[in-house]
Amino acid sequence: MAGGPYRGRLAPSPTGAQHVGNARTYLIAWLAARAASGRLVLRIEDIDSPRVKPGAAEQACAELRWLGLDWDEGPVVQTQRLPLYEVALRRLQAQELVYPCTCTRSDVERAASAPHAEHEGAVYPGTCAGRRAADAAALSGRPYAWRFRAGPAMPAFDDGFRGPTQVAPEESGGDFVVWKSAGTPAYQLAVVVDDADLGITEVIRGDDLVPSTPRQLLLYRALGLTPPRFAHVPLVVGPDGRRLAKRHGDTRLAALRSAGVKPEALLGLLAWSCGWLPRVEPVSARELVPLFRWATIPPRPFVLTPELLAAL
Ligand SMILES: [Zn+2]
Repeated sequence: MAGGPYRGRLAPSPTGAQHVGNARTYLIAWLAARAASGRLVLRIEDIDSPRVKPGAAEQACAELRWLGLDWDEGPVVQTQRLPLYEVALRRLQAQELVYPCTCTRSDVERAASAPHAEHEGAVYPGTCAGRRAADAAALSGRPYAWRFRAGPAMPAFDDGFRGPTQVAPEESGGDFVVWKSAGTPAYQLAVVVDDADLGITEVIRGDDLVPSTPRQLLLYRALGLTPPRFAHVPLVVGPDGRRLAKRHGDTRLAALRSAGVKPEALLGLLAWSCGWLPRVEPVSARELVPLFRWATIPPRPFVLTPELLAAL
């Protein structure tokens, strides 16, 4: 656990539009920091370059401001920090904790027999694990990624919201990519390097990222870094229980804004969904600071119905 004053972060990814679900997670992260009289860093997670949409980072910043969620430092932009990630990769190479992997995504899926989680991909079957870091030099011309030797046991952790958490091996196990064949760091490595470098003491994010956390804890250990506390909050889903999508109506913040929805109305809905208000009523982010409690946030996803959306 990291000590010292509270430091949190807001980390939008400019790969798509921000929607009501993102806003709820940002609100919780912002309130946790403000209630602790802590500091917040804004970080733009833009290393997934093929999927980054032009203007999306600026738009995410504008939408945070619209909601009244401010920050004290940043924006810190991942694509401007590549040398930091390269240093971390070299440290992992020097310890033989990573090896060059020439498998394509379909190679891995074909070779893996276990069923796999939708977002994490198949458990890597170890095809290239016999290589050493220096073997990369002999792969001239062949694209390769760097894969981390995860070992048999994925660390459990004490989640700030969920309590003790252990992720099943088929969800988080297996050697994972820390550096893509495109020559850029993978999400897991970049966020670990960033959160450590920025002195983040608590990471609050959606619970779709729970399977990433054991991997990130392994990287903290391998790099000799102190992990933050992790708190994973439930997502916002549609009435069918699925993650918000087009079929649930237009829940993009940009669409709500242009339809004339007031930020206080959306904040009131989100605050009610977290148990901080007895009914949906307009409220500002500042007014919510003294009302913030972890204990009232329901452990289940928040179901955004068409009626709740229309009432905005
Ligand atoms: Zn491989």
